[in-house]
Amino acid sequence: MLSWRDGTGHRTQVSSLVPGDKRAIGRTGPCGRVRCRPAVRTPVARMNSSGSAQLPAVKMRNVIVIGSGCAGNTAAIYTARANLEPLVIEGLEAGGQLTLTTDVENFPGFPEGIMGPELVDRMKRQAQRFGATYRHGEVTRADLSSRPFKLWIGEEQLETRTLIVAAGASARWLGLESEQALIGHGVSSCATCDGFFFRGQPVTVVGGGDSAMEESLFLTKFATEVTVVHRREGFRASKIMLDRARHNDKIRWVTSATVEAVEDPAAKSVTSVKLRSTLDGKEWDHRTSALFLAIGHIPNTAIFRGQLDLDEQGYIVSHGGARTNIPGVFHAGDVQDRVYRQAITAAGAGCMAAIEAERLLEAEE
Ligand SMILES: Cc1cc2nc3c(=O)[nH]c(=O)nc-3n(C[C@H](O)[C@H](O)[C@H](O)COP(=O)(O)OP(=O)(O)OC[C@H]3O[C@@H](n4cnc5c(N)ncnc54)[C@H](O)[C@@H]3O)c2cc1C
Repeated sequence: MLSWRDGTGHRTQVSSLVPGDKRAIGRTGPCGRVRCRPAVRTPVARMNSSGSAQLPAVKMRNVIVIGSGCAGNTAAIYTARANLEPLVIEGLEAGGQLTLTTDVENFPGFPEGIMGPELVDRMKRQAQRFGATYRHGEVTRADLSSRPFKLWIGEEQLETRTLIVAAGASARWLGLESEQALIGHGVSSCATCDGFFFRGQPVTVVGGGDSAMEESLFLTKFATEVTVVHRREGFRASKIMLDRARHNDKIRWVTSATVEAVEDPAAKSVTSVKLRSTLDGKEWDHRTSALFLAIGHIPNTAIFRGQLDLDEQGYIVSHGGARTNIPGVFHAGDVQDRVYRQAITAAGAGCMAAIEAERLLEAEE
């Protein structure tokens, strides 16, 4: 008889349920349908040679999700609803990049907008409702050479049949105290996300590559003027992107200069940036309502180097869908996506990874 055990140890027989049966809530397939196959079990005991039970040294998981941003939380919702009892390791930035921002106005379903931290917290609570477990800590080491995969949080070892890597890609910041204080209040690393808030105002972009050109061109749709600040005279950007930006009347250029400070942390908004010439050290204030950093992202994949296929910048290389080069390891969100980098695309990727993990485990039953 097919059955599952709930949190209290009580067994429910699958065959006694029909699609739509409320008793199946939280124990259903990814689309909410009652499952007609046994759930994948977390082993609680093994038999030794004398036939008596012995507890395993390491509790094996069906799914571990690395990361608690939009991708990780969505993967947790789907795998929890598929009865896989996922464990989410939150990382040092619990909730991911959205916790750095204030208003999010482009995530579907929130016509009035929603604060970034609240959005990810809602996702987490949704996953917990279906049985996902969250724990603090950062995965410091991974051995993906054979299944079950082994992970370490410091000295503690974990094992899992499948792994969803949703570790994100951290934006590079200048590292100034005033800049950090104003993230989400006029300092941003995402023009697509925050450009709209600066309609009719002057903004500043830092960077000299293609991303800086792309972000600047995008911002000209809203801003009265976009000033590109670059620390060198020459640009890394491709000729075509640079030409496009140079032909846009709204873009001004300040080269051989660095940003030294952002005003005004006390007012919790950006009023100006202090610039410094790299040629003669001269400093001056430049009035602006926002500062956009376009100096790159760092995918959080260092622990997978030499195991997962990574591109030259460290992003996971997709092997189709959410698959990596290692069967059973799936990618989700910004850790693989260097193009879109949005909350909704990360959430969608989390869903894809969860469905792939579930199908793999199902096929192996
Ligand atoms: C300032 C700002 C404003 C933004 N505004 C918007 C917006 O308005 N709309 C929008 O759609 N997008 C916005 N974005 C982009 C959006 O936040 C990202 O696209 C999205 O968060 C990506 O989700 P993710 O889950 O892939 O990664 P992340 O959100 O980066 O989450 C990564 C997670 O992995 C964890 N992690 C990393 N390494 C490890 C490890 N070794 N072990 C365990 N855990 C680990 C981290 O702690 C974190 O929880 C904004 C981004 C920023 C920076």
